[in-house]
Amino acid sequence: MQENRKKPVIQVKNVYKIFKLGEEKVRALDGVSVNIYKGEFVAIVGTSGSGKSTFLNMMAGLDRPTRGEIIIAGHHIEKLSESRLVDFRREHVGFIFQAYNLLPQMNAIENVALPLSFRGMEKKKRERLAVNALKMVGLEKYMAHRPTEMSGGQQQRVGIARALVLDPQIIFADEPTGNLDSHTTLDILHLMQEIVHEKQQTLVMVTHDNHLASFADRRIRIIDGVIVDDDEAAEEAEDGEETKDGKTVKGNEGGKDVPE
Ligand code: ADP
Ligand code: MG
Repeated sequence: MQENRKKPVIQVKNVYKIFKLGEEKVRALDGVSVNIYKGEFVAIVGTSGSGKSTFLNMMAGLDRPTRGEIIIAGHHIEKLSESRLVDFRREHVGFIFQAYNLLPQMNAIENVALPLSFRGMEKKKRERLAVNALKMVGLEKYMAHRPTEMSGGQQQRVGIARALVLDPQIIFADEPTGNLDSHTTLDILHLMQEIVHEKQQTLVMVTHDNHLASFADRRIRIIDGVIVDDDEAAEEAEDGEETKDGKTVKGNEGGKDVPE
């Protein structure tokens, strides 16, 4: 727990996200603070509706907080304009989706190479990088297959390769194994775990499943938009260090100021 190890890639400071549905307000995030570090595989765990996806979307720059700060790789993303946010995501983050989101008319190489075309990279180079990424996920025999010619697990491997090909600092995955059987789920989790550790990337995965969360280096548990448990904070407390930012606060007692 030396300071030098502790260079956060993501800093979330007292973030609120309040959705307005007519008269009603939904506090999807109710004052969350957390630091996430390089090389960490973090699981955001909680039941359905607890605010996991909202939290992930904030950290990935897909949506803006109602209040609070989110600093990723030195960028205050809550202050970026929509177009700067798009650029930011292209440059720094990769996504793995539950539903794979592959284009059906394209084969594996073309699907993986696609995000590189937004960077203006020439075709030969794009394809070379796509082939490398597909090898990394063990799909050397399926390079020319289209999604319909692959199993769910193989399709998600293509999805992972598509995130990796950008060599992003951070990869976000929202229930990435939600559509897979339990055997394939374990394969995919092992693969993600291995790659993140090998490449010292940062992976933030949302799951409602405690067992899947156990594959992560660290679990952050969320209930009703509040962080109720965080392995990192628990570890610091065991080391006799003060927990900062109320990371282990159970609920929102303590009378912090809360926006209307
Ligand atoms: P989880 O991913 O843990 O299932 P979400 O982050 O999707 O939870 O949702 C948290 C809460 O915020 C839920 O009550 C949900 O209904 C609400 N919510 C999420 N997105 C929106 C939205 N765009 N508009 C209104 N309410 C939303
Ligand atoms: Mg969700």
